[in-house]
Amino acid sequence: MQLTPGLHRVGSDIVAFHLIETPAGITMIDAGLPGHMPDLRAELGAMGRSISDIRGVVLTHGDSDHIGIAERLRSDHGIPVYVHSADAARARGEVTAHAPGGPKRLGAVLGFAAYALRKGGVKTKHLTAVVEMNDGETLALPGSPQIIGLPGHSPGSVAVFMPTVDTVFVGDALTTRNVLTGVTGLQPAPFTDDPAEALRSLDALSSIGAHRIVPGHGPAWSGSIVDAVQQIRTAAAQR
Ligand SMILES: [Zn+2]
Repeated sequence: MQLTPGLHRVGSDIVAFHLIETPAGITMIDAGLPGHMPDLRAELGAMGRSISDIRGVVLTHGDSDHIGIAERLRSDHGIPVYVHSADAARARGEVTAHAPGGPKRLGAVLGFAAYALRKGGVKTKHLTAVVEMNDGETLALPGSPQIIGLPGHSPGSVAVFMPTVDTVFVGDALTTRNVLTGVTGLQPAPFTDDPAEALRSLDALSSIGAHRIVPGHGPAWSGSIVDAVQQIRTAAAQR
């Protein structure tokens, strides 16, 4: 699904990952769940592209619902997979994420679990090799992704700013649809290691000139990033 020219979404509002298309090839942000390979092929086909056009996968963090097909793309197609050095061990499956606290609604939890099951979420394939990246780096990939550290959800959570599509990809540093409650709108994300640190990290977003925020879960959001950060802090304070 095309969100805007040069920016395609694969997956759904439950779990999504994204393709940024440039004349130099494609940069993929996150890698969904293991069962997303046919969805990726279908989207690339609709774009008149193929897997060989993907120059790199940039992970917003190392959680299992963001790395699904990354190892397959790396091992079968030689595509490098980038992750922040503080989440490299997580992406390799050497440390596990925390179980979520906070509010849950059974219907939403079951919807997330059913979708993850359908897309093979139970058979996580961890990375065996990654390219480590750090805060402030601009990667030599199509669209020149800029890495902004947003620790909190996980130690190596990042935002990826893609100037060519005026978009910042935030992974689970925030969400527009809580997978555990189904509640939509800008808000802190569940499954977060350190919620207070995650809220503080949002300051780093304010200096980015993008007008579209794309989270790993939930619809894209358009507007002022400063307003978005304010809305999330308000939502957090109301909990
Ligand atoms: Zn996630």
